Amino acid sequence: APALTETIERTLILVKPDGVRRGLSGEVLRRVEAKGYTLAAVRLLDATPELLAAHYAEHEGKPFYQPLVDFMLSGKVLAVVAEGQGVIPGFRSLAGATNPTEALPGTIRGDLGRDWGLKVQQNLVHGSDSPESAAREVALWFPELG
Ligand code: ADP
Ligand code: MG
Repeated sequence: APALTETIERTLILVKPDGVRRGLSGEVLRRVEAKGYTLAAVRLLDATPELLAAHYAEHEGKPFYQPLVDFMLSGKVLAVVAEGQGVIPGFRSLAGATNPTEALPGTIRGDLGRDWGLKVQQNLVHGSDSPESAAREVALWFPELG
């Protein structure tokens, strides 16, 4: 029988400015690698309004949109492409719930995130939520990878 062609699953992870500021970039990468995923690309960069408008297009118009964009412009972001079977939902599991107060212990947001008043946007990490989002987001943050 002919071999099945396997597509390597990829996701886009961001360590947000709160995570970079708090020195948690390595801890996030450690958890990704400890789970068995492979790092395919890593870049520390300053996001731009244009990049964030594209990245967060689905949230435009929501009350938290502009505070989120301003927060994402407040410092360096570590962008990561991670690979592995099931990595898209798998990293979402590692990250935990959006609100760090509700995120379970054992998750990145649950173990390391705090509830900064109403600033739910400061939840340390982003992870793509679907194959379509992952393809779009990898192309945005790593144009050379397409
Ligand atoms: P997730 O990052 O878990 O996929 P969403 O896609 O719903 O969450 O939201 C994108 C980001 O917007 C969140 O990670 C968080 O930083 C911010 N955010 C979401 N909901 C709120 C909220 N109610 N108040 C403030 N920030 C929010
Ligand atoms: Mg999301």
